[in-house]
Amino acid sequence: MSENPNHPKRPYPLERTRNIGIAAHIDAGKTTLTERILFYTGMIHRIGEVHDGATVTDHMEQERERGITITSAAVTCEWIQKKNDGVFKLFENQKERINIIDTPGHVDFTAEVERSLRVLDGAIVVFCGVAGVQPQTETVWRQADKYQVPRIVFVNKMDRTGADFESVFADVKAKFGVNAVRILIPIGSEENLQGQIDVVNMKAVIYKDDDTMGSTFDINDLEGDLLAEAESAREELVSILCDCDEQLGEKFLMEEEITSADIKAALRRATIANAVVPVAGGSAFKNKGVQFLVDAVVDYLPSPLDIPAAVGHEPGDEEVEVLAKTDDNEPFCSLAFKLWADKYVGKLVFFRVYSGTVSKGDMAYNPRTRKKERIGRLIKMHADKHEDIETCYAGDIAAIVGLKSVQTGDTICEQKFDIMLEPPLFPEPVISMA
Ligand code: GDP
Repeated sequence: MSENPNHPKRPYPLERTRNIGIAAHIDAGKTTLTERILFYTGMIHRIGEVHDGATVTDHMEQERERGITITSAAVTCEWIQKKNDGVFKLFENQKERINIIDTPGHVDFTAEVERSLRVLDGAIVVFCGVAGVQPQTETVWRQADKYQVPRIVFVNKMDRTGADFESVFADVKAKFGVNAVRILIPIGSEENLQGQIDVVNMKAVIYKDDDTMGSTFDINDLEGDLLAEAESAREELVSILCDCDEQLGEKFLMEEEITSADIKAALRRATIANAVVPVAGGSAFKNKGVQFLVDAVVDYLPSPLDIPAAVGHEPGDEEVEVLAKTDDNEPFCSLAFKLWADKYVGKLVFFRVYSGTVSKGDMAYNPRTRKKERIGRLIKMHADKHEDIETCYAGDIAAIVGLKSVQTGDTICEQKFDIMLEPPLFPEPVISMA
């Protein structure tokens, strides 16, 4: 636990946190998608800016000037989900915290991708709706397999000429040999991309021209072919889920009614167990498809609580396994996954807390150097600002200022906790903003 007994109580429940990465072949639209997610999540809190014409990119420029960018390593955003168990309950909103961890897109950086995969709990893998599965995404896919990262596929650029959702869906199944299931089907394509069908909740949306999502409606209000497509996708989804999820399979055998809430819960379990890969289609451009995708991240990708513990070993003996349990009341243990030299703030150590809590002013112990250093500042990155925080909790991702001797892959923990987490595979230099 924190050495500071007065640290504030956890401000949000851990089950509403998602630590995700966005991976893609270069040019598939990862940056656009990340910006759109940040823009959209930011919009909720800064509605005035939409009318002012400000975008996250503008904020990014300002951040660059100040020396911290949203692409530095990890950025936190908040999302208010409007649907609950398949029913839209507009007044029962929940706030979700989504930490987006940067996974570099260039082929030269696959080592860096691998490193960031260690600290995230789930990923969105972006494919271009025209190009389909491309070589670099195959590399990232294999790396995600190695760390068993649950993932959602987003077939992007559905508005472009030649875009074909079904062909990319088939490609994903064939090339990766996975149980891919359609969860968000685009309505129309190319210049006629009009909306999206949510197969699980049996809802559809027609986009508005002004970058907003439009209101949702029941799929029974859709025209013939689209309704048939949605129903057949739902049947396929249920059939695959019944094969890999015992609870749902049993309901099916007992001929009990299978509701959207049942499918949603089974899909979440199956995705976390890597038994299925949900596939969504849309366009990161102008937000067309992004909102439902963020809902899907919350609905189907794991929270830190779904991963009960990080595995480490005793510092002096790799044979002796030690677990860092996902719990605020356990001793503090975290992994430094990226170093960043900021010209104003100084050396930032991005870290993921696995167990316990840590507060500004605490002493951080590094089992590699056997040294303790004081934590000068704790910083959380948001789309348009960085925020000084007092305390980090189990499952959090943030940055520490003031640690001089930490390297990427170091465990940072309480001295009494005899643990060293598995270090990342490759050494990493400090990246400088200058
Ligand atoms: P990254 O290399 O994966 O980060 O790709 P970018 O986000 O930089 O996108 C590459 C290019 O594709 C840019 O010119 C984007 O504007 C464009 N782009 C990204 N997403 C979409 C989309 O959904 N539709 C269209 N038409 N263009 C897109």
